[in-house]
Amino acid sequence: MRGDGNGWTRCALGHRHWGRHGAAGLLLRRDTPDAAVVLLQHRAVWTSDGGTWAVPGGARDSHESVVQAALREAHEEAGIDDAAVEVVGQWQDDHGGWAYTTVIADVIGPLRIVPNAESAELRWVAERDVPTFALHPGFASSWPSLRRI
Ligand SMILES: [Zn+2]
Repeated sequence: MRGDGNGWTRCALGHRHWGRHGAAGLLLRRDTPDAAVVLLQHRAVWTSDGGTWAVPGGARDSHESVVQAALREAHEEAGIDDAAVEVVGQWQDDHGGWAYTTVIADVIGPLRIVPNAESAELRWVAERDVPTFALHPGFASSWPSLRRI
């Protein structure tokens, strides 16, 4: 049911995580003449780990696949139209009893980015520059597995 993933849970490693059925985010990629870039979200200060940078994402509802959850969250938080993106892969950070899945997608059509209240800012960042941002700890640990370069 819609929203039934919202809530805190604890993983086998003892962390507290948002998303009773796990969580998912969308790593959106495109190429510019200068660099391979990805869309990063500066999380609003009132959100979980607020003030850090990561990808748009959030709790998965029980009826959703991880891809559906990532695309829904990307639409809610960044206005991303799923017709403008093509899912090309996914990577799971499994903690035991809780997992975060990063869904990787390429931009294939016209895209308009519309931040919602959970996004202080959305910015295209060159992959080589991602480690210089104050990253969300979960995203920071996944990034070496996600980057193309
Ligand atoms: Zn954990």
